[in-house]
Amino acid sequence: MENINELKSLLSIPKDIVITTHRNPDGDAIGSSLGLRHYLEQLGHTVKVAVPSEFPHFLNWMPGTKDILVYDTGQEEVKKALEKPDMVFCLDFNSLERIDKMGELIAQLKTKIVLIDHHLYPEPFYDFELHDVTASSTSELVYDFINLLGDKRLINLNVADCLFTGILTDTGSFKYATSPKLFRLVADLLELGVDDNRIQNLVFNSLEEKHLRLLGHVLDNRMEVLDEYRTAIITLTKQDYEKYKISRGDTEGLVNYLLQMSNVALAIFIHEQPTITKISLRSKGNFSVQEIAKKHFRGGGHKNASGGYSYIGLRPTVKKFKSILPEYKDLLLNNDL
Ligand code: 5GP
Ligand code: MN
Repeated sequence: MENINELKSLLSIPKDIVITTHRNPDGDAIGSSLGLRHYLEQLGHTVKVAVPSEFPHFLNWMPGTKDILVYDTGQEEVKKALEKPDMVFCLDFNSLERIDKMGELIAQLKTKIVLIDHHLYPEPFYDFELHDVTASSTSELVYDFINLLGDKRLINLNVADCLFTGILTDTGSFKYATSPKLFRLVADLLELGVDDNRIQNLVFNSLEEKHLRLLGHVLDNRMEVLDEYRTAIITLTKQDYEKYKISRGDTEGLVNYLLQMSNVALAIFIHEQPTITKISLRSKGNFSVQEIAKKHFRGGGHKNASGGYSYIGLRPTVKKFKSILPEYKDLLLNNDL
């Protein structure tokens, strides 16, 4: 990170700070934001975490979730927080477009912006950056950030619980984007008292009956396997959401099931949200879903996990996807799994 000393001196005086993260925040978005908050508060700052839309219920146990401001359900509070903060931290996203209307509010500010992120190709909207696409998660980078500022001793159990959760969820329980450095870092977190088994239970074993019924329904009735493209697709309609009484966060992780098939290199999940059709993409090996998301679906993300959206509705989006698959056929078939 360049200008670390300038940032350190800015942070040496108590400030009003807003931390924000991407829409549909996941474990890493919330974990990194709250972890950073618990650190900055120890430096004497007043910190608000503000997010564009609601976060999944399985994160409710994390320390500090009750004070998170959500733009979708509390516009006024978020607008007030963003009136004139002294500093804004943008975590786990790479373009202001990813935070909807909040992005417009932040673009107007004269305050310093710090980006901490691990997504490919960040847009230049910030003054300071800690950016590394090889990092497992933004939570890993928040740990590095605190270390870079010479404050490792301030990583207490609250900070550690939040960062562990972000790492756990973004790596799919240490399956993706791991490294020797990450395991050492996680060892540090365990030494601070993080109870990994407790957190695994809170995050992954917290489903209700309807979630498993939904999974059964999706795999039995909404899955299409296109062997000739090593691709599998699942779709969910508005009616499915109503019938199974599910909300957005409830479909988190569904797309990953498709990759469990040995012949599948590309997994696609397309579902209807109130105004957009949302697309989640996952891949194995060298095949980059980031390119597809960026080129065809206004999105982006990582090589093996990306997302995007369209405005044309569910069926037309599925059709469009099938029409672009031939373009990627060779890459998919030659991909070493
Ligand atoms: P998910 O499929 O879990 O929603 O997202 C997977 C990855 O793609 C995440 O890293 C997320 O940040 C990124 N992503 C998801 N949706 C979008 C989008 O609409 N635009 C961009 N740029 N990235 C997205
Ligand atoms: Mn992340």
